[in-house]
Amino acid sequence: MDPSRRPRLIVLAGPTAVGKGTVAQYVRDHFPQIRHSVSATTRAARPGEVDGVHYAFVSDADFDRMVDEGEFLEHATVHNRSRYGTPRASVQAALDEGSSVLLEIDLQGARQVRASFPDAVLLFLAPPSWDELVRRLVGRGTEDEEERARRLRTAEVELASQEEFDATIVNADVAEAAREVVERILEAESADEPAAAGTPGGVAR
Ligand code: 5GP
Repeated sequence: MDPSRRPRLIVLAGPTAVGKGTVAQYVRDHFPQIRHSVSATTRAARPGEVDGVHYAFVSDADFDRMVDEGEFLEHATVHNRSRYGTPRASVQAALDEGSSVLLEIDLQGARQVRASFPDAVLLFLAPPSWDELVRRLVGRGTEDEEERARRLRTAEVELASQEEFDATIVNADVAEAAREVVERILEAESADEPAAAGTPGGVAR
């Protein structure tokens, strides 16, 4: 482990269909030194999604048990519907090994991370415009109209929260946005402020 670099918890948040998943995948493919957390969710798998790779798909009862047993570093109900949570143990293990960990989560989760880990780095991925966001959501065709309307209501709230983040990155081009994400991570890793209590490696409950 390079002693001049401190592994950090990085949050990548932003509205529905902004391209968080695509940008995170680009980071995964091109910058393997950054680790990614696999969330648990109660929503059904979409075609092509693999259990344990894209998400751990769990029942409501399993999710309840994981909450009760303190297995989540943060968890939230997203779009008033399904539940999602970040597993504490695997994130802690990656930080202990000296790797920064990227969490692709919603605004509620980002706020929980901010409260528990003051030195986490919060990045907001924004669309070039509202119209472009709607176009991307319709274009990916994975939600029906009711679900799209639900997601756009959440998106309005999320877009209004940008000033809570350490930086906003506009996703006009996936490779460029991903490179900017990685630059922010590298900057944060080499920042020489002292580690705050309860941060890597000490994922406090
Ligand atoms: P989707 O169902 O489209 O995969 O994800 C819906 C939303 O849930 C996205 O905004 C995604 O970032 C968020 N999400 C995914 N995993 C987590 C998680 O572990 N915690 C929280 N709070 N949100 C998550």
